[in-house]
Order: sequence, then C-alpha cells, then structure tokens
Amino acid sequence: MVEGWIADRMAGIDSSGIRKVFDLAAKMSNPVNLSIGQPDFDVPESVREAAIEAIQSRKNGYALTQGMPQLREKLQARVDKIGHEDRSVFVTSGTSGALQLSLMALVNPGDEVIFFDPYFVMYPALVRLAGGVPVIIDTYPDFKIPIEKVEAAITPKTKAILFNSPANPTGVVNSKEEIKALAELAQKHNLALISDEIYSTFCYEDNFASPADYYPQTIVIDGFSKSYGMTGWRVGWMHGPKALMEAMIRLQQYSFVCAPHPFQLAAVTALDIDQSKEVDNYRKKRDMILDGLKDHYEIPHPGGAFYIFPKLPWGPGEKFIKTAIDNNLLIIPGSIFSNKDTNFRISYAASDETIQKGIDILVKLAKEGK
Ligand code: PMP
Repeated sequence: MVEGWIADRMAGIDSSGIRKVFDLAAKMSNPVNLSIGQPDFDVPESVREAAIEAIQSRKNGYALTQGMPQLREKLQARVDKIGHEDRSVFVTSGTSGALQLSLMALVNPGDEVIFFDPYFVMYPALVRLAGGVPVIIDTYPDFKIPIEKVEAAITPKTKAILFNSPANPTGVVNSKEEIKALAELAQKHNLALISDEIYSTFCYEDNFASPADYYPQTIVIDGFSKSYGMTGWRVGWMHGPKALMEAMIRLQQYSFVCAPHPFQLAAVTALDIDQSKEVDNYRKKRDMILDGLKDHYEIPHPGGAFYIFPKLPWGPGEKFIKTAIDNNLLIIPGSIFSNKDTNFRISYAASDETIQKGIDILVKLAKEGK
C-alpha cells in the first residue's frame, strides 16, 4: 500500500486492545467464554418468523431513511408517553449508528465531549472521529456519577455529555437522584445530553430512569440488539428535539442510508413481546455469579446490563488475564474500557454451566494469587 494513504483521523481509532484479546481467544479451543457482549438467548420465534415473512414477501429493497412507518409510528407512540412536545423518533442502523450520527451532527472540531471512565469502547473513538476532544471523568471505585467533578470539567468548549446507564462494562445502574442531578446540570449549561439506553430492559432492581425524565432536550439512543438478541440485525432508534433528529436523518441518508428493511418489519413484532422472562433469567445469572465470587472479589454492585466489573485480586492486569486464558477462561481486561488497569469485565450472558465453570476458575485464580 502507498504510504500516506490512511487518513490521519484513523489514528483516533485504536482497537489494538480488543484485537489482542480476540487474537488470544482464537488460539483457545472451546474456552469458557465470559467475554461476549450479546445475549445468549435467541431472537423470539415470532420475530424470526416475521423477518422470514418480510424477506419472502420481497421487502428487500431500501427502507425509508427515517424508518418504515409501521415501526416509526409504534416507537413514536411510546416516545409520546414521555410527554415532551418537541420530541421525534427515527430508526437507526443499530445503536452504534445512532451514536455516530449524534456525534457527527453535534460536535464541531475542538468541541469537548464529557463521558465517564469506565466507558463503552466506541465512545473515545467516535468523539475523536467527529473532531471532538474527549473529556473523561473518573468514576472509580463505585461508578456513581461524581457530579462535582462533572461540573468542574465544564468549559466554554463543552458541547455534550455522553451517558450510559445501565452501563457497559460495569453493569452499574445510576440512581434517579444521580441521573436527575446530571440532567439538571446539562440543562443549566445548555449541553447536549446523549443517553445511551441500550441496556434499559436489563434493570434488576430499581426501575430504569432516563435523564429525559428531567431534561426535555435529552437525546435518547436505544435499540433492539440486546433486549431481543438481535445484534446482527442492526436496528436501533433515537429520539430527541425534532430539528436535531431531522439533521441526523439527513446524515443517515448520506451514510448508513437505512436500517435493514426486513428486520425493521420484524422489529414491529418485537415491540409487542414481553421479555421479562429473559430479564428474570439474567437476574438469576447475575445473582449466581455474584454469589460465587463474593468471598474472593470486590465487585461494585451491578444492578443491570449483563456485566460485572470486579477488581483484580492481583496484578498486573495483563498477567491476570493471561493466567485466566491459560486456565481456559476468557474475560476482558478493564484497561480496554478505561484509563485504569485495576478491574476486569465478565459478561454473564452465557449458559449457567459456563458461568459455573467460570466461577470455579476465578475462585481458583484468586486463591492462587494470594
Ligand atoms: N452502547 C453500548 C453501551 C453497548 O454496549 C453497545 C454494544 N456492545 C452498543 C452501544 C452498540 O449496540 P448496537 O448493536 O445496537 O450497535
């Protein structure tokens, strides 16, 4: 390849950490895999059938950029319940697509975007891709929102706050009080508040709270990937102030074009399905892993999503992860989601048998290291 072909902006996308883990995983045969960021349950049968029906009835062409009316209207009816006059919804190419559209449509070069450490891996890369400057707020050790630190980080260049609860990688669900304080702070400073609510279905204790309950200009991002096991179907949605949504639809027209047509039609069926059985099942998995590890690991309380983020019992992180891999266990080092290397991520979106095997290996590792 000719030197200089790769654009400078690609320097902002460093996925070497994740790649290292996947390279190691590729060498493992039949690992105890607690690294996967997607549900282990399948798409509900009626939704799969709806997708097949859509394909067979030749709904395979482009969809409307803003989403097929059947889906968009159903989503808008939900969004209208929030009670904001200036709020419209459109269908995106997954939550990832919605994140990218938001940052591209909001951030000018040099604008600062505040988000919290630990963070979802895409956040720093997407902020930089949009020309923004990541301003990363440390939330260790309990992963609550440190509101004074957020206020202190706001400068005349701050444009947006990117927020995620229930969170990847910690599984922490922020309280209504914390979320209200964050929303009010964003409103006070006229900041765009982007709320990534992809794990909203997976809340095991408190009812889910959205900053949109407190700040009517909040931009909400959600999707079907996690709640219906549809990660490969690439259907998400986003809602917020109408003029901003219109700008993002224009951008979608010239980027992702649309979310896949047959899967949008299947998603209409998904919206009528009650997933509470799956959520109850995941609550049990969470309890199982917490119970199995509690005497050996320090774990900030995970009220949602399907992750836990224990403190390393000994370090450094790289050595611990390598030893886990030598014991046939695949977990993700915390440094992939953080400026710190003190924790690691476990996904319990796995069979009970796999979770039990993982617990046994992790208990052994904690004991051996001491
Ligand atoms: N946000 C968070 C916090 C996530 O964990 C993920 C998926 N790992 C996404 C967004 C992207 O989800 P999607 O499949 O809808 O693009």
